[in-house]
Amino acid sequence: MNQKTTKYEHVWSRCLDFIKDNISEVHFNTWFAPIVPVGLNDNVLKIQVPSQFFYEWLEDNYVQLLRTAIQKELGKSAKLVYTILMKNASSEVNPTVNMPSTNKQKIKSQEVGLPVMNHAIKNPFVIPGIQKLKIDPQLNPNLSFDNFVEGSFNRLARSAGQQISKRPGSTSFNPLFIYSDVGLGKTHLANAIGLKVKELHPEKNVLYVSMEKFIQQYGQSARNNTRNDFIHFYQLIDVLIIDDVHFLSGKTSTQEVFFQIFNHLHRNGSQIVLTSDKSPIDIQDVEERVISRFKWGLSADIQAPEFESKKQILFNKLDRDGIEINEEIIDYIASNVKKNIRELEGALNSIIAQSTFNKKDLTLELAENTLAKFINKDKREVTIDFIESLICDYFKIESKQIQSKTRKRDIVQARQLAMYFAKKYTNASLASIGQKIGNRDHATVLHACKTVNNLKDTDKNFKIYLSDLQEKIEYHG
Ligand code: ADP
Ligand code: MG
Repeated sequence: MNQKTTKYEHVWSRCLDFIKDNISEVHFNTWFAPIVPVGLNDNVLKIQVPSQFFYEWLEDNYVQLLRTAIQKELGKSAKLVYTILMKNASSEVNPTVNMPSTNKQKIKSQEVGLPVMNHAIKNPFVIPGIQKLKIDPQLNPNLSFDNFVEGSFNRLARSAGQQISKRPGSTSFNPLFIYSDVGLGKTHLANAIGLKVKELHPEKNVLYVSMEKFIQQYGQSARNNTRNDFIHFYQLIDVLIIDDVHFLSGKTSTQEVFFQIFNHLHRNGSQIVLTSDKSPIDIQDVEERVISRFKWGLSADIQAPEFESKKQILFNKLDRDGIEINEEIIDYIASNVKKNIRELEGALNSIIAQSTFNKKDLTLELAENTLAKFINKDKREVTIDFIESLICDYFKIESKQIQSKTRKRDIVQARQLAMYFAKKYTNASLASIGQKIGNRDHATVLHACKTVNNLKDTDKNFKIYLSDLQEKIEYHG
């Protein structure tokens, strides 16, 4: 008996040495220090963990590490059995979950029969002895529901957002996937949801992050060998808001980690809010299993606002700024700035600035003159054909050269610019851009966009072409 006791403690302590070398100290202290070894029989090591949640966490996150550690000590046939310590009771339950457990499904079904002490684990993130993580939600206090005008253009997304703010993670809107063209209120709404959750449920950990930042942070964690810390941090969030998820396009390894985090949060009843400039089916170069997650909850789009909503948005803004303007001018702006709320606000700001700085009266005429530029922009839609002909004019080449298979440097460059601008200024997919510009595939278009982005940072002449062309596209009318 005595000898056995020494043996399992010894085995576990050697396992811990190995584990310690492979994860950060914080995670080691959080997840491994509280484990108590309780027995070893026929190569089956028995360990006691503080809660059901704790056991699930280990299975989800450290199964591979545990397996390696234990097999190193006890050989390939080694198994692990968990014992969950009941809160307020000395009795134990024996989930007898076997190690090597590669099949998650199998574990789940074994769990079903367990006497799980859910009453003892109200909030699974509050583990006895471990403080709940406190994070800064990174929300913008100015983007709230109070100043988010509702109209038929955004009603579905807005009311779903309000529902989930009241009961994050407990509605069928998980994830809430909000999509629209630019400048129609996705970021504003996503922020408003976060603020409302914080107001109604201050104990919840809310985090707003743009997908660009998420990608950047992940890249950094991969370089610094802190990938696990990155994942664990995100897995502890109750309401995760990721803005502009379409940036996942082409980012294979971030997709993998996003998938893992998403699954974990979803399974644990955390709320996920995603925004995108495309609907799930139109997102390119993102794995199907990730896209399918986007569609699990509710996908809600925001359309361009109708006339009355545009007026309402303008009046609201004037109200906040304490400025009064003749309704005739508001009507003029609302009927002429077509699609985009950001431009609507920009138009109003320009008119006010013109009037203030030039000490002119705020008249309809002033509004008309000031808005010429905005309105021109809405007159004609930018199409791939338009971009191609603009580029041909600019470089004095012919369309058939762009469409040809030639690899001559200046033609290749013109073709790449056409693809880049088509991606930037139209809603066409990479595949259809490729097809229209020289019958290439989507990968060629993606490559073209990357090349242009690289060249604009390194090649002075190229930068000039780029800004010339950009100006021509933006101000064509
Ligand atoms: P997106 O993320 O879709 O590109 P934003 O959320 O950044 O758009 O919105 C663009 C601008 O329009 C922001 O200044 C935002 O506050 C404002 N805005 C968008 N929707 C509304 C709305 N429904 N009511 C009031 N302002 C809005
Ligand atoms: Mg946005």
